[in-house]
Amino acid sequence: MTTKHNKVFRRIAQQFSGVATADGDGVKLTRIIGSPQINFLDPFLLLDCFESDDKNDYIGGFPAHPHRGFETVTYLLNGRMRHQDNAGHEGLIESGGVQWMTAAKGIIHSEMPEQEEGLLKGFQLWVNLPAAAKMSAPKYQEFPPESTPLECRDNGTQIRVISGRTNQGTVGPVVNHHTYPTYLDVSLPAETTFEQLLPIAHNAFIYVIKGDIRVISDSNDQTDAANQPLTAKHLGVLTQGDEVLVTSGSDGARFLLIAGKPLQEPIARGGPFVMTTRAEVLQAFDDFNQGNF
Ligand code: MN
Repeated sequence: MTTKHNKVFRRIAQQFSGVATADGDGVKLTRIIGSPQINFLDPFLLLDCFESDDKNDYIGGFPAHPHRGFETVTYLLNGRMRHQDNAGHEGLIESGGVQWMTAAKGIIHSEMPEQEEGLLKGFQLWVNLPAAAKMSAPKYQEFPPESTPLECRDNGTQIRVISGRTNQGTVGPVVNHHTYPTYLDVSLPAETTFEQLLPIAHNAFIYVIKGDIRVISDSNDQTDAANQPLTAKHLGVLTQGDEVLVTSGSDGARFLLIAGKPLQEPIARGGPFVMTTRAEVLQAFDDFNQGNF
């Protein structure tokens, strides 16, 4: 006989609006995680959203810069980015495609908009690596849009699956045995409900791209902050639990649902380097300055 505990539904614990900033060569973006509002949501170190149809906001791109100790995940909704690194790796990230880059012991790369005009919109997520993997060899998991499955449900729901598994069994191509991430891009028609199981102890969040949603909790108390809608361009950090239940508003909604296993290790940050101790960060600066990446 097996014993099952009662299912715990995740709620919205806190909402954040993100902070307008610029990075790279003057690329305007919104820092959603990694800001004074929410510095860290283990294992997620940073989430940026860039979105502009004015080339002056993005054309400078992100010229050559290093990373060590974590992974960068670039997911584009519109436009194209050309990627090149110091090991001779080059690729083009396109709308609906993803680049999951394990920088590990060190990569120097550039990320430049390929296009000269039009809308460029996408996200970069930084995912921490455990101490034991921070100095491993860099690697890439790169998937064009035709290799990131789009699950289309009878009720009009569409889910692009980057990593993890939907309740209907669609599995994303990215494999990660450090943080076992779930990364879903979910589009819901008006007033539609979406359910997603998540490992109970994973940290999880929703970022609303368009429209608005409610996350249904087991409390029906409408005065509870957890039952308030989450609107476009807002981050909702979820409580822990087995499953999240989302309902879209009257205009439908599009959102990212991202979860991962917390590493529960100390972090020491120094710009593009994220290690476990200050000494390791200083070593990273030394290695970079001496051309040892
Ligand atoms: Mn980078």
